[in-house]
Amino acid sequence: MNSNKIKAFGTAAADADLKELNIERRELTATDIEIEILYCGVCHSDLHTARNDWGGTKYPAVPGHEIVGRITHIGSAITKFKVGDLAGVGCLVDSCRTCESCKKDLEQYCLTGFTGTYNGKDKHLGGHTFGGYSEKVVVDEHFVLKIPTTLDLAAVAPLLCAGITTWSPLKHWNVKEGSKVAVVGLGGLGHMAIKLAKGLGAEVTLFSRTAEKTADAKALGADEVIISTDAKQMKSVNGKFDLIIDTVPYVHDVNPYVSTLNNSGTLVLVGYLGELDPMLNSVPLILGRKSVAGSLIGGIAETQEMLDFCGKHNIVSEIEIINMQSINEAYARMLKSDVKYRFVIDMASLRNSE
Ligand code: NAP
Ligand code: ZN
Repeated sequence: MNSNKIKAFGTAAADADLKELNIERRELTATDIEIEILYCGVCHSDLHTARNDWGGTKYPAVPGHEIVGRITHIGSAITKFKVGDLAGVGCLVDSCRTCESCKKDLEQYCLTGFTGTYNGKDKHLGGHTFGGYSEKVVVDEHFVLKIPTTLDLAAVAPLLCAGITTWSPLKHWNVKEGSKVAVVGLGGLGHMAIKLAKGLGAEVTLFSRTAEKTADAKALGADEVIISTDAKQMKSVNGKFDLIIDTVPYVHDVNPYVSTLNNSGTLVLVGYLGELDPMLNSVPLILGRKSVAGSLIGGIAETQEMLDFCGKHNIVSEIEIINMQSINEAYARMLKSDVKYRFVIDMASLRNSE
């Protein structure tokens, strides 16, 4: 099959730095769209994958699933997009599109497994998929999103993962005017959760380990900030919340947060993947009909709904723009929670590199 080589940034091993390398993108099929990538957000999942935190990373790994850019070529059957349009790609680039989940627009729960934008099984070229730390990407139009033209393009990029991952549980658990929502962790996902929950009219509380983030959280829209290491502050919100979105990436004790749910409330884990330690105590769950749940990104239709909502309500991410060549320092800062509140790579830095 014909293909073409482009520049990308990736890593050859879990303990190696990311550096420039070449990858191939496929020739367009009739339903494919080629996008020149202008900006790509940096998600903590990129770091987990590069470092093989979850196991199963294939190398070289080229992360990046918060992609925005401009369409440079379209396949012969494309009707919804044209060359020159802005476009976005999130965490999904394919799914079976025929199973019960796909038919319900829940491609992220495809029963045969979705194709991730990176580290997924490449059905076209073989091998594995490469993400948005690259000059361009070729994606089936079903998985391409329309970008509101009124928003700052670089600050839209994180909506494609951090935005949809927090939007989907807010919608699924029916957050509306007056709902009491809490967010655990003020990072990329956490700050979008605050903005989106506020946009839906909720009263929003942030749980953070980091007292220095209080003023920022309030500026982002949080009504209240609770420092999670302060037992007195934790007690003050006992039994309060309808929904908690927990974005913490590493193992942590979930039980203190369950105590802050009201009866029938739900805590949704979107960050840490793995066994809980300490384990969940079932007593408050049973006595208060409480739930602990999980949620994975969101489907394509729901992602478009979220983008349109953000366009209408002028919601974007708070970003720090970096060059592609600074990605290793950015990962080190992300591990120290030193991000305000999403790194976004200006992809011109890769395109223009020697
Ligand atoms: P991030 O920007 O690094 O933010 C994580 C925040 O969690 C930190 O800012 C920090 O906030 C808090 N935190 C608490 N304990 C921590 C610890 N031991 N180490 C680091 N941070 C800690 O990460 P993100 O990009 O928002 O991603 C969050 C998690 O969601 C990652 O695990 C990522 O892989 C996952 N994710 C899941 C989905 C999904 O579909 N479910 C989608 C995207 C990402 P405070 O300082 O306020 O405590
Ligand atoms: Zn992500």
